[in-house]
Amino acid sequence: MYKNPNFLIALVALVVFLALGIYLGRQYTPALGVEFYSACARSMERIIAGGQGDVYDFAGVEEFEEPDVYNLALYRVEGDVITDPVFESVPAGLKDEQNDLSLQNHSWDVFTELIPPGNRQMVAQFNIFTDGVDNTLAAVDVIQEDISSWKLEVDIADLENKDAFIFTLIHEYAHLLTLDSSQVTPDQDLANDPYSLVLQTEKAVLCPNYFTGMGCSHPDSYIHAFHNRFWTGINDEWEDVDAIQYQPDANVNYYNALYVFYRTHRDQFVGDYAVTHPTEDIAESFTYFVFSPKPMGKSIREQKIRFFYEYPELVRIRSEILKGTCSPDN
Ligand SMILES: [Zn+2]
Repeated sequence: MYKNPNFLIALVALVVFLALGIYLGRQYTPALGVEFYSACARSMERIIAGGQGDVYDFAGVEEFEEPDVYNLALYRVEGDVITDPVFESVPAGLKDEQNDLSLQNHSWDVFTELIPPGNRQMVAQFNIFTDGVDNTLAAVDVIQEDISSWKLEVDIADLENKDAFIFTLIHEYAHLLTLDSSQVTPDQDLANDPYSLVLQTEKAVLCPNYFTGMGCSHPDSYIHAFHNRFWTGINDEWEDVDAIQYQPDANVNYYNALYVFYRTHRDQFVGDYAVTHPTEDIAESFTYFVFSPKPMGKSIREQKIRFFYEYPELVRIRSEILKGTCSPDN
């Protein structure tokens, strides 16, 4: 067969070009343009503002009572949809919320519009609960019967403030991203008995990397790298504060001490809730990474936000979340 050398060179060049294109495509998300960011900037600012809590509003109060929590509907997740709801018995005043399947489905849709299907496969259950307006807006939990899967929980009473809801959903998603079985080895004993300090101490000793409280993190995990870089200098001081919550009737003392810790190290944290635990710090910092412009300063707070830019897959997820947040349909 006759071979045209020019054709071969062109073919090789084309293959190299395509391979490089694919490689670059893998390394860098097609950057969302300047126009996209300027159109999205207002929404991003609003969501960050919506996430400003008042964790320590009751610092100084004498007693703090946990609100009652009611589970309204537990769904199975099947791809993009939720199905087969199971209803618990609830007080008569919550029947309307329990029967509002359309609102429950809407709250799930907000989540799926933000997070692409390939990035939320660990979510196997979706729980609708309420503890009244505010308090807990959403949460994630390991499923005890299958500890590599997770349950996403949403308070049906807190959907009206959409910015706060989106901020919280991304905070919860950050927990899934940093704590799921690809990052932290799940532990059945800890899942069965999550509040046993004895068990936690036993397991922590056996973990050569950062121990999350729910399991031992992998050496190349986000949380291990984050803790190594940002927490070694403050960890002992923080552990003394953290231990207060396990003393009898310590709620108020604990929050007061935590607030002092926050004020002492304010320049290291994106917000007050971040000091409650390293796993909360990484979740809050990730949420700021998603909804803030890339910071350029030297403060530890800014370094924490920039930390996530070191992982191309997280930069890609950020773009996807922002596309979902700022698409014209939202
Ligand atoms: Zn959290």
